[in-house]
Amino acid sequence: GLQTIGQMLAAHARTQPDHPGARDLDRQMTYREWNDRSCQLANGLLALGLTKGDRIAVFAYNRVEWAEIYAAVAKAGLVAVPVNFRLTGPEAAFIARDCGVAALIAEAALGDLVDGIRSELAVPGDRYIRIGAEAEGWCSYEGLIASSASVEPDISVSPDDCWCLMYTSGTTGNPKGAIRSHRGMSMLALMTQVELSLKRKDNALLVMPMCHANSLNFFTAFLSIGATVTVFNRANFDAALCLRTIGTMGISFTSLTPTHFMMLLDVPEAERGAAGFDRVEKLMISSAPARPETKRAVMAMFPNSGLFELYGSTEAGWVTMLHPDEQFDHLGTVGREVVGSMPIRILDDDGNEVEDGQPGELFSCGPYCFEGYWNLPEKTAEAFRGDYLTVGDMAIRDADGYIRLIDRKKNLIITGGENVYPTEVEVVLGQHPDVKDVAVVGQPDDRWGERVAAAVVLREGSTLTGEDLIAWSRERLAGYKRPRAVVFLSTEEMPRNTTGKILHRVLRDMLADRTA
Ligand code: ATP
Repeated sequence: GLQTIGQMLAAHARTQPDHPGARDLDRQMTYREWNDRSCQLANGLLALGLTKGDRIAVFAYNRVEWAEIYAAVAKAGLVAVPVNFRLTGPEAAFIARDCGVAALIAEAALGDLVDGIRSELAVPGDRYIRIGAEAEGWCSYEGLIASSASVEPDISVSPDDCWCLMYTSGTTGNPKGAIRSHRGMSMLALMTQVELSLKRKDNALLVMPMCHANSLNFFTAFLSIGATVTVFNRANFDAALCLRTIGTMGISFTSLTPTHFMMLLDVPEAERGAAGFDRVEKLMISSAPARPETKRAVMAMFPNSGLFELYGSTEAGWVTMLHPDEQFDHLGTVGREVVGSMPIRILDDDGNEVEDGQPGELFSCGPYCFEGYWNLPEKTAEAFRGDYLTVGDMAIRDADGYIRLIDRKKNLIITGGENVYPTEVEVVLGQHPDVKDVAVVGQPDDRWGERVAAAVVLREGSTLTGEDLIAWSRERLAGYKRPRAVVFLSTEEMPRNTTGKILHRVLRDMLADRTA
């Protein structure tokens, strides 16, 4: 059989008990401590009457307890349902009801959010578990651990059991619960070990939300090899602190979105910390389109580290990877299939493979894929063609087999019958020296059906006007792709989700208000 996630942790606790396991900026555990506390938590959860396959919603900012919770749930044969801490009450209630939640774990700072949805859930009062300050109506997380034994729970967990339900962030509709099994996640971890040449002495800084697939995937990969995982436990991304942490905590790897990297690049030299980045070997950029300029600047900032780029999704796991030595010849692509995957297929609307160089919908097939959407058999069936999965990304494969992403199919703007993908326009506008950040959406237009509108963040001191930018784009973009409206935003106003993706629906509404 294949090791389950709980068995992975137990094995490392046996062979390297004193090796640094999971930690955050405030607390650290060796592998032995991590495994003991995870067993205690698992037994505590089972003592509450939870049984195999029950779903536990987790509401927490980044903190080391995530490492215990994911492991405990795995050992107890339960299912973790991480809920994004940015969600509103109704959004969180949707997920809790959709998964049929049996227990909830929340940190004190998110207690009000959970209290606000209690009346909508049929969960007994002792199954609300609170991390941090105790409160009435809540069972204490530490109390549960302290009152339970650290023996491995007597539950048989199979690699095919579900470990986590990862709700997609919903940038393209209602959130859907992607079923991730022990098997799929183990395979993903083993592949990541190979692709990134992971070692036990690696130390990964997990900055992206632990409720998101990106962090979960790397968490599992570094756990599987017995390395150290350091959770960056700050709710708001503090770029200067992140850089200092990389220096002082001996970080060898981190994975960030292009937006995070842009923020790191903005940190003044004096605030970057004295420790230097000597131990950083590998950096990962992923989750949203990365501009070549950003990647070049990151490589210059970390000259001793290799920069990788990944393309993947909650459902597929990792699909393609671009390695450091490919960054120059194949900049602008997301690389080729990860090890162990079947060749990617780029299909037209009739399901036929298109020629290299032609756009189509990207389908992937590998052992890292999810098991389907929770309670949505039709949506699951729609996502597959045979064994091949799509999440609606449009792409082109070049003659060398490298994949260039175009955009989500659903973001397509149709103006006067012509197709425009926002990313294409964003890439061009992003080349203007005064443009720091840009996002493009379609707006309803009486004459053309839709028209292209751009939201732009300018570099400090710039006096560029919307007309200037439109005039500048005249030589670089076909008429129908040129923005008809430009709205200037601050970096904070740009609506991105926790993984750096533009929230197109939110942006469309914002621009409608400001151009009305
Ligand atoms: P939903 O599926 O509900 O819209 P989401 O888009 O946030 O939510 P994720 O699984 O988090 O879902 O994101 C996967 C998507 O992120 C991919 O389908 C792709 O569009 C985009 N993406 C991932 N990596 C890259 C990358 N390296 N470059 C460009 N886009 C990327």
